[in-house]
Amino acid sequence: MQRRQITVDLTAALERGELSLLYQPVVDLETGRIVGFEALARWDHPTRGRLPPSDFVPAAEESQLIAAIDLHVLRRACVEARALGHTTLAVNMSPVTLRSTGVIRRILETMRETGFDPRRLEIEITESAVLLPSPEVQTGLDDLRDTGVRLALDDFGTGYASVVHVRRFPISKIKIDKDFIFKLGQDPDAAAIVEYKVRVGRSLGIIVTAEGVETPDQLRFLRSIGMQEAQGYLFAPPLPLAAAVAMLEREAEGGPLLVPTAPGDV
Ligand code: C2E
Ligand code: MG
Ligand code: MG
Ligand code: MG
Repeated sequence: MQRRQITVDLTAALERGELSLLYQPVVDLETGRIVGFEALARWDHPTRGRLPPSDFVPAAEESQLIAAIDLHVLRRACVEARALGHTTLAVNMSPVTLRSTGVIRRILETMRETGFDPRRLEIEITESAVLLPSPEVQTGLDDLRDTGVRLALDDFGTGYASVVHVRRFPISKIKIDKDFIFKLGQDPDAAAIVEYKVRVGRSLGIIVTAEGVETPDQLRFLRSIGMQEAQGYLFAPPLPLAAAVAMLEREAEGGPLLVPTAPGDV
């Protein structure tokens, strides 16, 4: 019942423009520079305030409304991200969206209509999209890649996806889930697992990104094992567009880098 209500409310929310986007910077750990932003959806609910995706994405997935939401987010992000220079724009897509009919065509239409360069776009998919791929999803993802759109495997390590799955899909990045990053320094296994993934990524020519970096100790460790990119509260939380633009401007004006580049100087 509650989920049904959420779906009804969400449909109206889409029409009323109550979904907004925050942008979290992605930092290149070698140069210390912002190389991209991940768009993260929020629902500005008329009575409940600003809601995170965990409050509405599951209900939207059950009702298939998620495809409309993900495409709405994509369109909006493509328009707004014109203000973000040449950085990569990462957008999340539910496996339900990827399996829905005509979605690849609509993604391409959105790029064309907004004039957004497909080579700047990265679509983040989760493991469940690559574990049980329908032939349509497999072909769709190949078609997308042919246009220059990149694919990132989100939350890597939380399910059962392995290197085999990464190989079968045109994936150019894996994002290591924040649960593994949180455990660094407490759980020796976590450190070994993260290090292993960085090594595998490198040998496959895939960029590896760490999610949920919150402390200088985590950052030090990640740099010591050659992690290429990171995202997390240590650098910045998800930001309103204007604040994201301001961060890029500060960087361009020679402001301090998010990651000090001198060795050992974190
Ligand atoms: P995700 O794609 O793995 O995004 C990362 C999540 O980690 C975000 O949560 C972000 O705010 C949070 N985060 C970033 N840095 C830190 C940190 O240092 N510490 C901690 N504790 N958290 C951090 P958020 O924004 O609540 O989004 C949650 C999930 O919802 C996302 O996980 C993504 O799977 C999904 N999502 C977000 N936007 C969309 C969307 O437009 N469509 C779909 N289908 N899913 C979305
Ligand atoms: Mg993501
Ligand atoms: Mg993630
Ligand atoms: Mg995650």
